Amino acid sequence: MPYIPSEPYIFKSGLYPGKSMEILMFHNYGYLIFMFHKLGQVKRTIFEEHLAWIITQGENRKSKLKCRFCNTQIINTFLIRQEIPFRYITRAYNTSCQDNFCWNSLVHEAGRDYAMKLPIKFSSILDLQKYSYKRIFIRALRNVFLLPNHLTNEVAFRFFAE
Ligand SMILES: [Zn+2]
Repeated sequence: MPYIPSEPYIFKSGLYPGKSMEILMFHNYGYLIFMFHKLGQVKRTIFEEHLAWIITQGENRKSKLKCRFCNTQIINTFLIRQEIPFRYITRAYNTSCQDNFCWNSLVHEAGRDYAMKLPIKFSSILDLQKYSYKRIFIRALRNVFLLPNHLTNEVAFRFFAE
């Protein structure tokens, strides 16, 4: 039977007592992934079930923003440029849908400035080395998912559960 939570998971002890796993997805994804890789096939506790669930949900969230090339499909990819400071990825301007034509249009537009393709999902954080880049990428995710700057446990939970 699939695990479907009805509320956020709040840590009672450890590194983040009182914090929710939902908020940690935005503040310390690396920590959750580290714990996730230690999980076995059989999930024994609510903590393990919830962790496996939220990592999966972080990979399949959908933006509500439309691709500016086809104006039909929703965006699912960021284009990172070399020359433009990394902070500008937070603009949905440097995004496209999964369609090859749209993505190629975006790459063509960037020209020699093209640096990197990052899917709009949480695990893309792992492709970035610098801590400051990871933080900016998280802000970019919040932007394209239309989430507020200050996330509560409830808002974050609804985002992952919807
Ligand atoms: Zn498109």
